[in-house]
Amino acid sequence: MDEVLVVGGGPAGLSAALVLARGGRRVRVVDGGAPRNAASPAIHGMIGFENVSPTAFRERAWAELSPLGVILEQARAVGLERRGELNVGLDDGRTLSAARVLLTVGLVDRLPKLPGLKECWGRTAFSCPHCHGHEHRGQRWGLLAIQRGMVGLAPSFTNWTRSLTLLLDGRSDVEEARLAQLAARGIGHDPRTIRALEHDGGRLLGARLGDGTLLELDALLLHPPQRQTDLVLFAGLALDDEGFVKIDDAFATSMPGVHAAGDLAGTSGRAIAAAAHGAEAAVAILGATPPA
Ligand SMILES: Cc1cc2nc3c(=O)[nH]c(=O)nc-3n(C[C@H](O)[C@H](O)[C@H](O)COP(=O)(O)OP(=O)(O)OC[C@H]3O[C@@H](n4cnc5c(N)ncnc54)[C@H](O)[C@@H]3O)c2cc1C
Repeated sequence: MDEVLVVGGGPAGLSAALVLARGGRRVRVVDGGAPRNAASPAIHGMIGFENVSPTAFRERAWAELSPLGVILEQARAVGLERRGELNVGLDDGRTLSAARVLLTVGLVDRLPKLPGLKECWGRTAFSCPHCHGHEHRGQRWGLLAIQRGMVGLAPSFTNWTRSLTLLLDGRSDVEEARLAQLAARGIGHDPRTIRALEHDGGRLLGARLGDGTLLELDALLLHPPQRQTDLVLFAGLALDDEGFVKIDDAFATSMPGVHAAGDLAGTSGRAIAAAAHGAEAAVAILGATPPA
């Protein structure tokens, strides 16, 4: 039985594993696949890892964790339940038992069904200007108003470019006064529906609008809705009002012995924040369960 089983090997899980192993715990990390930022060629805004690919980031982390005895399982967790001890079912048919489980499986982005978006996602279409804005500074940006929140955030994107167009994609619930305020700051809007994104191998060329016009753009900013993974949903963990896993000050979830950290628990959606959250969760676990 593992002392701590970390499920999810992204920045939060890997960072937690480091702190737990350095605290003398037997740690195993189960990771089931691509990181959330896998679509991006490089991580930005994480000091020490600027412009490092998500894959290289993981390889570096593993080179640091292996000498500390951390075990990596390349497998997907498909079930989590407590029957005395905690049991995590894997997609290869095995079940792992642990005294504590730390869930760091991240969130799932629900991209709108817009042709061309998948190819551009992480390259020229992105959700975090702090992560990818610098690479597109001064270019022509479209801001896809899937959520009304984008309208309020629009002025902050002038940190990177003055060429901003709010794409309403047919929605009519944004007040004229709001649009006038944006216009006064040089931010235009386009009310037309969007049929597809035109691109060249993921390099955005523009938005093909419902009337056939091509609105030329170099970058598209959008905040797609996110959801919890099936693992979290099926485990029945309590979520907060915003859909994040509910945790207390000790990073404990509603299931005894199960902790959570990283994007799934509502960090800011940046790798460095998720890594810090994972480290803090590990500190809390070490403090809550001193060795026998
Ligand atoms: C396209 C894109 C680009 C981004 N670029 C940047 C950037 O440049 N800089 C930055 O700071 N942030 C960036 N981010 C945000 C950043 O990637 C996340 O905030 C960060 O990865 C969250 O870390 P995490 O450890 O919480 O979750 P994740 O990184 O999502 O890691 C979760 C891990 O758990 C695994 N997993 C999921 N389900 C299971 C399961 N059932 N069993 C086992 N394993 C499972 C996943 O495969 C994954 O490896 C980007 C996000 C996206 C979508």
